[in-house]
Amino acid sequence: MGNNSIGDVLTIPHFELLNLDKTTKNNIEKVILVMKYNGNIPVTCPNCGEKLYKHGERTISFIDTTLLGSPAEAEISFPRRRCKKCGTIWRPDIQDVDEGHYVTNRAFAKIANSSIKQSFEDVAKEYGIVPTTAKNIFVNYIRKKGDVLRFQTPAFIGLDEIKIKKLGEVTVITDLEHKTLYDMTLGRNQKTLTEYFANMPNPERVIWVCTDMYRPFEKTIKEALPNARWVIDHYHLVAYANLAMDAVRKEIQKGLSDKERIATKKGLAYTLRTRQSKMTSEEAAQIKECRNSEKLNKLAIAFDLKEDFFNIYDENRTSKENAQKAFSDWEKSIPADDIFEPFRTLAKTVHNFYEQIFNYWDCPIAITNGFTECTNRIIRENSVRGRGSSFEVLRGRTLFRKVNLQALETSGMLLGPSIPKKGPVFHFEEIKGIEDETVEDESTYYDSFSCDPFAGLKAWEDYDPETGEIFDDGISKLESYEDDLPFI
Ligand SMILES: [Zn+2]
Repeated sequence: MGNNSIGDVLTIPHFELLNLDKTTKNNIEKVILVMKYNGNIPVTCPNCGEKLYKHGERTISFIDTTLLGSPAEAEISFPRRRCKKCGTIWRPDIQDVDEGHYVTNRAFAKIANSSIKQSFEDVAKEYGIVPTTAKNIFVNYIRKKGDVLRFQTPAFIGLDEIKIKKLGEVTVITDLEHKTLYDMTLGRNQKTLTEYFANMPNPERVIWVCTDMYRPFEKTIKEALPNARWVIDHYHLVAYANLAMDAVRKEIQKGLSDKERIATKKGLAYTLRTRQSKMTSEEAAQIKECRNSEKLNKLAIAFDLKEDFFNIYDENRTSKENAQKAFSDWEKSIPADDIFEPFRTLAKTVHNFYEQIFNYWDCPIAITNGFTECTNRIIRENSVRGRGSSFEVLRGRTLFRKVNLQALETSGMLLGPSIPKKGPVFHFEEIKGIEDETVEDESTYYDSFSCDPFAGLKAWEDYDPETGEIFDDGISKLESYEDDLPFI
């Protein structure tokens, strides 16, 4: 990286470089640049015009970018003058340095940029500073940039709630049209969100808001987003069909002997959650086996109810009327048997949010938060591991990624960071070696039905079935879902 070239040596107008030496300072090997003021020194007071007197010399050290492979520091000396009459003290301006942080401007920018992806510890080591300084620089940087770095208000907004240890509930606001992050804000109650959206620039631009079934959104949207319509994320809704099916399966499971259980590679629970259209012949045979078994027949019915519920969306993509008819038929098809009660509860939920659920068919884009829900799972896992950064640092690291900062410098801004299909959306201090973000191409469109936000969770125990809120216990369960499904 040209670390050994001398071309990067700091220059400051009106200062000359006297010496450049590698030495050990506070146990750190550093390159020290000794610089001295060589500009004009006034003879009269800039304030009152009286004669100025010598007032000693000062030396201030500033952290600079690395040089010759080591942290570098500039020791900058300059004279001072004092007016005996009015007390004014003159000293030269030192350009290109940030005196508040004892760092050169170029090092300030580099430290802040590195802190987006690297831990403060690593950044501090590279520049020969303490981690707190790196953190302070970063926080200062994002505050400054925050005023300029405003993303375009999205027309299609997605709201997701995640929980982060020590920070609490965080609402993640996404641009669903461009699959980018827009912003994040602490809290998710109605007052907090109404305030947030009321202060967002151009709230009238928002025409669709996609969320889970959380009633307080209704008032927020009405009050703060005058042109917006509310749509329930179908992805969130169909996840309830899987949960209803799971509930039936567990009930049936209770009455089975070990011998009667159908063991499969990943477990029948997994097979049941698989969409029929995506099943292997082995998996299809398992379902058939259930259908023909007296004891497991109800399991096959539950599977069908799940499939039919998904198909309300899948088979009626273009007609709202047909979808509503399909739902009505589905509801009537639920057998009277008590064991299918979870499906009746699901039907009730649909009635509770009927308008918002079927608004989906009026929306000009296939609107869903599915892709953020999936990444949020990974975020939740990270947050369990994370020691917890401040919200400001987390938000800064998440929104002000390198590509965005570059775009900001060149074109003035635009859209937030794209949301990766895999890997964390948020950056915690503990996460090291994160690869540079690449912008996804259109062809990798996310299949929202293939990811289940409630995989393996129990209602009321792990999450709130009314609002979709996932409790702490549920969060840790999500981590181990894939390899640890119970099978019958
Ligand atoms: Zn004076």
